[in-house]
Amino acid sequence: MVRPNIAGLTSYSTARDEYTGSIGIFLDANESPFSNGYNRYPDPHQRKLKDLLGGIKGIPSCNLFLGNGSDEAIDLIFRVFCEPGKDNAVIMEPSYGMYGVAAAVNDVAVKPYRLGEDYSMDTRELLSTADERTKLILLCSPNNPSGNAFPLERLLEVCDNFRGVLVVDEAYVDFSPYGSLAREALCRDNLIVLQTLSKARAMAGLRVGMAIASREIISLMSGVKYPYNLSVPVMEKAVALLQKDITEEVKLIVCERERLSALLPAFTFVRRLYHSDANFLLLKVDDPDSLYAFLLGRGIIVRNRHRVPGCEGCLRISIGMEEENEALLEAFKEYEICQH
Ligand SMILES: *Cc1c(COP(=O)(O)O)cnc(C)c1O
Repeated sequence: MVRPNIAGLTSYSTARDEYTGSIGIFLDANESPFSNGYNRYPDPHQRKLKDLLGGIKGIPSCNLFLGNGSDEAIDLIFRVFCEPGKDNAVIMEPSYGMYGVAAAVNDVAVKPYRLGEDYSMDTRELLSTADERTKLILLCSPNNPSGNAFPLERLLEVCDNFRGVLVVDEAYVDFSPYGSLAREALCRDNLIVLQTLSKARAMAGLRVGMAIASREIISLMSGVKYPYNLSVPVMEKAVALLQKDITEEVKLIVCERERLSALLPAFTFVRRLYHSDANFLLLKVDDPDSLYAFLLGRGIIVRNRHRVPGCEGCLRISIGMEEENEALLEAFKEYEICQH
């Protein structure tokens, strides 16, 4: 499945690959000797952060890839597996916009699989979208922007019946009752699970995403990445913030999600609230553009998905702090009055 130029790639060997000790007189990397905390190159193998994350997730470091957000991992997956202008990828619709962008940047054709009316997935139909030039199927569970997760058995069914590589994006897995496929990726040669520190871990500004896969896939991705893709301050801050337990924060978000889910369908202009296993809700309303503008006028910014195929009439609303969600509900009440 791997592109021949990647399979035969000789990766850049950094000064820190050749000598890995931490004490000594470093005259090997043309760095400045004047110490300011950042004068040395970062560890290209990100050992400290990988060991910590691996410990938290129960994943060996050799099965972990760390990137500048999941977006880097998504781009690298296309570059490792897809021959530009020849291979294609199956992507569900609607889903995360970056898959299509990464495919287009890499000149890889996209074959869309349209999810069902309630954003359900028909495994057989999905698989029949693939042809002999399909290298990748990208699934997102819980899916952005629909919010629903797919049962793990269904995802594994896709994996077991596809002769390419299945990518499952689990950016919102911490909010989902279904759990993760991460451990399944350790013993399969065609499954890549993506996770991120950007959502439940509250580190979107740091830009740390990860891929979990077989040693072979991880070493291919690591060989293609820029050697120093995560900087010293990013790794230091991530290590510090990972000491914190997020269980209570996740519980609170899920609790607020359920509270809003119970209240929102009562508004007369709400046509449908979709089930969410993530930290956002997808809401179908009578006039999405007018509600979007109304909320904006009240200083509340939501995501207008009305023009996304499969999301006609929909706004996507992230779950905020309790008082932020209250402000949203107040604005909805005002809007309802205006409608009459
Ligand atoms: C937010 C999000 C990500 C996270 O991307 P980062 O680059 O890690 O911030 C990945 N996938 C999906 C589906 C998302 O919604």
